[in-house]
Amino acid sequence: MTTPPRYRFAPSPTGFFHVGGARTALYNWALTLREGGTFVLRIEDTDESRNEPQWTQGIIDALAWLGINNDHPQFEGPYFQSANAQAHIDAAMKLYAEGKAYFCDLTGEQVQERAKASGKPGYDGYSRDRGLEPGPGRVLRFRVPAGETVVHDLVRGEVKFDNATIEDFVLLRGNGTPMFLLANVVDDQIMNITHVVRAEEHLPNTPKQQMIWNALNVAPPTWAHVPVLVNEQRKKLSKRRDKVAVEQYREEGILPDAMVNYLMTLGWAPAGDTEIVPWQHIVDTFRLEDVNHSPAFFDIQKLQAFNGEYIRKMPLEVFIAECEPFLTGETMPWPAGNFKQDIFRGMAELVQTRVTALTEVPAMVDFFFLDEPAIDEASWAKATKDEWASAVLSETAAAYATTEWNHDSLKAVIEQVGEKHGLKLGKVQAPIRVAITGRTVGPPLFESLELLGRDTTLARLAAASQRLAK
Ligand code: GLU
Repeated sequence: MTTPPRYRFAPSPTGFFHVGGARTALYNWALTLREGGTFVLRIEDTDESRNEPQWTQGIIDALAWLGINNDHPQFEGPYFQSANAQAHIDAAMKLYAEGKAYFCDLTGEQVQERAKASGKPGYDGYSRDRGLEPGPGRVLRFRVPAGETVVHDLVRGEVKFDNATIEDFVLLRGNGTPMFLLANVVDDQIMNITHVVRAEEHLPNTPKQQMIWNALNVAPPTWAHVPVLVNEQRKKLSKRRDKVAVEQYREEGILPDAMVNYLMTLGWAPAGDTEIVPWQHIVDTFRLEDVNHSPAFFDIQKLQAFNGEYIRKMPLEVFIAECEPFLTGETMPWPAGNFKQDIFRGMAELVQTRVTALTEVPAMVDFFFLDEPAIDEASWAKATKDEWASAVLSETAAAYATTEWNHDSLKAVIEQVGEKHGLKLGKVQAPIRVAITGRTVGPPLFESLELLGRDTTLARLAAASQRLAK
């Protein structure tokens, strides 16, 4: 019987949780679920100058939002790298005792000076055979063996590295603290990790880490390096330039299911003619061997389109419930207490088909709940530029004072007004829409008027007539 695989996700808590990290975590998670394995979350918190506890919590929360948390028996952790500091040092000293690593007393500057003098970049192996003992300021370097290192990567195939191009790299700093390359390997060993699926930018580390695995006499894990995410200009996504924080997309009303589905399609595509597929289908069919080598474009518009699809797929009651925080929470654009659930319910189905994010919902229905919606000047100017606008407003108001109050008759009235002026419905309703809602776009007008009620409609039409008269 083969032992079940152990995947891991090992973020460094140095900032907002990046969409690239989320994609890597999801790849690991999908494989864990299908293969009946374990997903280990390890927080690599050893870079004390850059770590903050809130970033750790942010990662844990964002993973949970994506569905990765300890509600599932296959989730393990979080573990913290800092808890293993002694094990990292012990492993390093074992390599030293076996002659697989050696101490060096050159400072960083001295290493550079020597490289400059010889014309060969990097560390030249100066202390390889000097037999230095440990001591303050002395770094421990790995003795890179001659030959070649072949990394078997599930995404990239066989990747060969000539060891001559790899310097004797540092395992322990001069102050005795372990370097990432070592700590990361030792942790993976302690946690019995069988599969390392991570970002492509770590590929240059992999031959070094594979050498450490071998030197510690443990068989290396199966490697997979997934392609980087790039922006529209095909530049690597960066937190300075691009919108990369998972948290931000969550706040902007992207649904977790849409985010998960979209992230999984970056570098991979489900079989069939649609990329919008249930999570279980992804779990059943995702394979690292099918992941593309080339950088994947993180296309925000496509994410929004996915989100729109997911919104439209929601049962109406779920949609209404999901909108609630945006309509009654801190960010609501109308005075507290103005929101009316029954009006929103009446519009919900029409709104649901017209948004790509839940954050767009308040602006679609704000004219119901604002005491006086602001009139967008450009829309107003455009909708009232023709000389018939004033007559249309007053004739509509006169008819609306007595007509039956339902969307069919509200529409019939405007059609009649339009006919009188030789105008199509689309044209003649423009000043009415701006007068009532403040804008030229929005949910269907006559359904909106029906819910808004006669009094408010007439008041806003009268205000618009006055405005136009000025
Ligand atoms: N802590 C590393 C990072 O956040 C990950 C290392 C790994 O996945 O092996 O880039």
